[in-house]
Amino acid sequence: MIPFKNVLIFSPHTDDAELGCGGTISMMRRNNINVSVVIFSDAKISQPEGYSLKNECESSLMELDVNSFSIYGFETRSFRKKSDEISKLIYEKYNEMKPDLVICPCSSDKHPDHHVVYRETVRICRTSIIGFELQHNHSNIENPLFIKLENIDIMNKIKSLSLYKSQVQVLKRPYFETSIIKGSAEIRGIQCDVKVAEMFQAINIII
Ligand SMILES: [Zn+2]
Repeated sequence: MIPFKNVLIFSPHTDDAELGCGGTISMMRRNNINVSVVIFSDAKISQPEGYSLKNECESSLMELDVNSFSIYGFETRSFRKKSDEISKLIYEKYNEMKPDLVICPCSSDKHPDHHVVYRETVRICRTSIIGFELQHNHSNIENPLFIKLENIDIMNKIKSLSLYKSQVQVLKRPYFETSIIKGSAEIRGIQCDVKVAEMFQAINIII
């Protein structure tokens, strides 16, 4: 069991938290760990006509039974220009929630918005911090940390991601495919001698 009770996740866009750590969120909720998620961008400009990523994200996070979440309207790829506002929000949420674990993108994540969230999280938060893995955004993780999961957690992750109809049915994103999510969790499981796991970057660990 991980030694944390109050977890705050900084997700740059809708779906990053579920893709990066949906299994871990499921495991934490099964163990009564408090999980709150902040989503900086509702990714409006990336959504196909007739779909709402905000609504899909709400359904997905409710499926994972998170305790609370807030979705903001920062425009995709604008985070570098809005760096001060992003920092302010991270500072406010960190002080409001007082988490003992923060989860954010990894240092090697190539997406410019993700990098801003990583950089500002590490600058502001003085608690344990780990970075989630998004395999489509980077190919290596420094200082790996594995979180052991049960099959039910990966099934919950798959179920929550299936609620992103725009990504699954319209845009057919390969990283939303059940076989990819399951296979990835099994590979991470082999690396730490369990059936399934998720990998993170150990950024700052306080125990
Ligand atoms: Zn993203």
